[in-house]
Amino acid sequence: MSKRLTGLICALALFLSLSGCAAPPKEATSQIFAMDTFMTLTVYGKGIETSAEAALDQMEDYIYALENALSVTREASDIHKINTAGGESVEVGYAAAGLLDGALELCEQTGGALDVTLYPVVKAWGFTTGENRVPGQEELAALKDRVGYSAVELDGQTVTLPAGMELDLGAVAKGYTGYQLAVLLKELGFSSACLSLGGNVQTIGAKPNGDPWRVGVQDPESGNALAIVDVIDKAVVTSGNYQRYFKENGQIYGHIIDPDTLSPADSGLASVTIVADKGLYCDGLSTALFVMGLEEATHFWRQHRDFEAVFIGEDGAVTITAGLEGSFSLASGYENREVTILE
Ligand code: FAD
Ligand code: MG
Repeated sequence: MSKRLTGLICALALFLSLSGCAAPPKEATSQIFAMDTFMTLTVYGKGIETSAEAALDQMEDYIYALENALSVTREASDIHKINTAGGESVEVGYAAAGLLDGALELCEQTGGALDVTLYPVVKAWGFTTGENRVPGQEELAALKDRVGYSAVELDGQTVTLPAGMELDLGAVAKGYTGYQLAVLLKELGFSSACLSLGGNVQTIGAKPNGDPWRVGVQDPESGNALAIVDVIDKAVVTSGNYQRYFKENGQIYGHIIDPDTLSPADSGLASVTIVADKGLYCDGLSTALFVMGLEEATHFWRQHRDFEAVFIGEDGAVTITAGLEGSFSLASGYENREVTILE
């Protein structure tokens, strides 16, 4: 992906996050670039003994600490240590262990649509290295043995990964981070905040006037806000193939990989947005349900019913789950778009 495109994506993400949090007078806001994305943190009011500005400083430090622990590309990170241990057990920090524990549970729950061991495949396609390419079928077949979350052993904070396998927590780390930040803010005594971590929005409480936060869902085609979801104290996380992708011979290859084919997921969906209490759950499910496609994702939702979702098809079709009926609205310019409600 070119630098120019990345810039455009970041600008769009910033626009969306700002539109998602736009409301009453801000107490304090900061914008940082971390985890390869622009983040906008907005905090209202005062904590018990902490100003909004001091809370922002603490949040920034926490984000950078998590990035250092969880980044697959940083040599000092826990994930890099696991990936280069050659099959030996590695002692990791609280965050890496906690996130991995929750992620492995989601891998299981989604029948492997989410798989945290796809890094050899993500690399083969050139995602995270920036050198995108289409690997041959033989190359992909040879990677099969190096993928499979059930081979990951986690015992407390000790992780053992067979030699040749590599973890990538990129599909869940930002959602986890958003939720941990919400916990931190609440401990400090804040009751109103909106944190936008590039496609991962975490809200704390309601807006200062008691209204819900209005979080924008992007039109994958134009980048404009297609819909608004009203939420209080929830995470809203979107996954799609329209921001991180490359084109070769007229074909688009997105960064979300189908663990069955080891190739970019081609399920007919352009984006999946998940609304639930916990960011890790939202982030993991937005990736997994994107892989599954609408039919399987609908079945998954009917079985669980502990989250809500907005699906946008490659053909522009919008489908929402029943629990969003009162809190979902089409944005200006999209009023005529048909919306199917799943029961
Ligand atoms: P999501 O849908 O949440 O996740 C998709 C990402 O997860 C893919 O990019 C891939 O990495 C992985 N993945 C693909 N398919 C699956 C699947 N089926 N199951 C599980 N995982 C899958 N990007 C860079 O280019 N350079 C960096 O240095 C860099 N550092 C990062 C550091 C941290 C701590 C984090 C959290 C991310 C970083 N990223 C970096 C971005 C990262 O590589 C992913 O692209 C990003 O996390 C995707 O998030 P998303 O919300 O857009 O998509
Ligand atoms: Mg995700």
